[in-house]
Amino acid sequence: MVLATNLGFPRIGAKRELKKALESYWSKGISKDELYKVGAELRRINWQMQLDADLDHIPSNDFTYYDHVLATAVLVGAVPARYGWDGKSNVDIDTFFAMARGNEKVGAMEMTKWFDTNYHYIVPEFSKDQAFKLSGDRPMVAFEEAKDMGITTRPVLLGPVSFLLLGKMKDGGDALTLLDKLLPVYEQILGKLAAAGAEWVQIDEPCFVLDQPNAARDALKKAYDRLSKVSPKLKLLVATYFDELGDNLEAVFGLPVAGVHIDLVRAPQQLDAALKAARKDQVISLGVVDGRNIWRNNLSETLKIVQKAVKAHGKDYIFVAPSCSLLHTPVDLDSEKSLDGEVKTWLAFAKQKLHEVAALAEAADGEMNEVKEAFRESDSAAADRKVSRRIHNQQVKDRAKAVTAAMLNRKSAFDKRIVAQRKALNLPLFPTTTIGSFPQTPEIRHHRAEFKSGKITEAQYNDFLKKEIKNCVEIQEDLGIDVFVHGEAERNDMVEYFGEQMSGYIFTKFGWVQSYGSRYVKPPIIFGDVARPKPMTVEWSKYAQSLTKRPMKGMLTGPVTILQWSFVRDDQPRSETAKQIALALRDEVTDLEKAGIKVIQIDEPAVREGLPLRQKNWKDYLRWAVDAFRITASGVKDETQIHTHMCYAEFNDIIEAVAELDADVISIETSRSQMELLDAFVDFKYPNEIGPGVYDIHSPRVVPQSEMEALLKKAAKVLKADQIWVNPDCGLKTRKWEETKQCLRNMVGAAKSMRGLAVAAE
Ligand code: GLN
Ligand code: ZN
Repeated sequence: MVLATNLGFPRIGAKRELKKALESYWSKGISKDELYKVGAELRRINWQMQLDADLDHIPSNDFTYYDHVLATAVLVGAVPARYGWDGKSNVDIDTFFAMARGNEKVGAMEMTKWFDTNYHYIVPEFSKDQAFKLSGDRPMVAFEEAKDMGITTRPVLLGPVSFLLLGKMKDGGDALTLLDKLLPVYEQILGKLAAAGAEWVQIDEPCFVLDQPNAARDALKKAYDRLSKVSPKLKLLVATYFDELGDNLEAVFGLPVAGVHIDLVRAPQQLDAALKAARKDQVISLGVVDGRNIWRNNLSETLKIVQKAVKAHGKDYIFVAPSCSLLHTPVDLDSEKSLDGEVKTWLAFAKQKLHEVAALAEAADGEMNEVKEAFRESDSAAADRKVSRRIHNQQVKDRAKAVTAAMLNRKSAFDKRIVAQRKALNLPLFPTTTIGSFPQTPEIRHHRAEFKSGKITEAQYNDFLKKEIKNCVEIQEDLGIDVFVHGEAERNDMVEYFGEQMSGYIFTKFGWVQSYGSRYVKPPIIFGDVARPKPMTVEWSKYAQSLTKRPMKGMLTGPVTILQWSFVRDDQPRSETAKQIALALRDEVTDLEKAGIKVIQIDEPAVREGLPLRQKNWKDYLRWAVDAFRITASGVKDETQIHTHMCYAEFNDIIEAVAELDADVISIETSRSQMELLDAFVDFKYPNEIGPGVYDIHSPRVVPQSEMEALLKKAAKVLKADQIWVNPDCGLKTRKWEETKQCLRNMVGAAKSMRGLAVAAE
């Protein structure tokens, strides 16, 4: 029988119940027991939902109060000493939260992106003398909980090799050397699960979709040689997702495990190799329902893939599954009561995806009659989407097709442009500016809420925003900043703000996805061809410019970032959607120029995170990503200065692409690394101008002028003086005015002092 299976379900609750409970627990509003009650109820609801969907394999231990990587660290006793765990009893939840978020006494552990998703995990920390010890019981407790509901779940564990590879040795060396010490803990957990009656255990080894050295493959073999021997009753499913196994495929299928899960949404091409590599009695779990997106599956098309696998490999050795854990999709489309009815028929959230998985398994099993209706609906949605006038805008398509090489290039090269810009802008050496947003005060949020709920009129809201802009301008005049911003008070979010004004976009009410801990994001959905019906930011920038003689920067979010932080349509390549967004933004850029704006910043903080997981795919991505930026930026005259901003990023391996953006000025986050991140720009001899952030905006600390000056001096050692801009690391929207003004005053002071030194040196 073809089984319908799932790899993991969102833990946040359809109405963000977990967030509310967590935040209330952290602020001492509810007790530990009350928090646990919410957790248990969410698990129960999720299991019931999967039971109702007729799934054969329902995961457990996919739930966690914060992050599953942190939960694994805690489970195996990898708790850094500074968190004061006694090393004997099970790690308690407050220690777990201290590791995640820090407390009065100790800071949080490092957090980083989970592969190429927008989920963030806590980076495990190891040392050479690291000891591991079973220090928790969550997988076992969850298994029993579900058993009480009559469900024999498939417990999910993060695999030992990926766990080590995702962590960091804080005293250097290779984390894989710890494998021998870690495996006994995994053996113990598997032993306990087997004793409790588990039949299958899913062990995630997503790191094997990345380029890996032989040592990692050796470690994998060693690990599963051992783990497969724990119990003859236990079947292990090694799960991989987010990309193809590629040169790791033989190694993974070669493991003595009962099954392997592969992602066939991201990497459909690996099916043939998998069919060849799998042992006859080894289950292949087909990840065919997109766990990273919100589109309804085209069941008829997908069924062909499943049938092919069934034919080649036999019914009894095929699972149907989402491509990865459904953690990365919102919970339930049924919650969306006011979503456009037509668009809604094209969508599927986690709950709906369960039914797709079940329908595919039934159909592949020869029970098409049972699921006729699901297939009919899916066929009709797919047919609709192909021709819908809501999606397809011929004008947009034609324009995208007609993009010429000339449209990708500024009229002149940088060395000529910069002369024109210096003449037009007349700025001092070490010009000062900020990254765009000023503090989003409670007052701003209050007015926005009042406007959204209809309590104040649009005119009233706009008057309020104008007052805010005026205030920002006055403050900048007073501080003596050189290039102004209007403060972005009108924006709730740098992507949503633009999405709301472009066609082809739709917004959900409950489409939340966990970003980290209790922080969730609600990405807008790009469902159709993207166009800009009318200018989006021009009126605000024009108004702001009318208040001052200093240049006012126009502020836009770039095409790659808009793409990256949205749910993107799956019926055309991402590159095509990026190009459409770029063309819409290009019009905005030229409209800003026409309105008298001389400096325009196009933020692209998400360029790096869009990089494909496999290095061999980087070139292709970077080509279209850079082109999208250039389409956006290149419609203006030489004397109009284009800025871009990227937040923290490792620039070393993408510096050429960054240079190819050909922005006149780039600002980057460098203060936290003491200008170390600047090295990439120095080694490469970055040709254009740079604003290396001189202070960290993540903390309320008032940074003294001397500190900023020291950083600028460091920068001036390796860059030319007339190449350097002076700005904070990033936008200031999370800060308060108090500290913002003081920091900026010190920043202007630092710039002035640098100017003095430069004059003296002449
Ligand atoms: N202009 C945006 C701001 O200042 C940039 C934010 C970002 O890059 N993340 O808030
Ligand atoms: Zn930033």
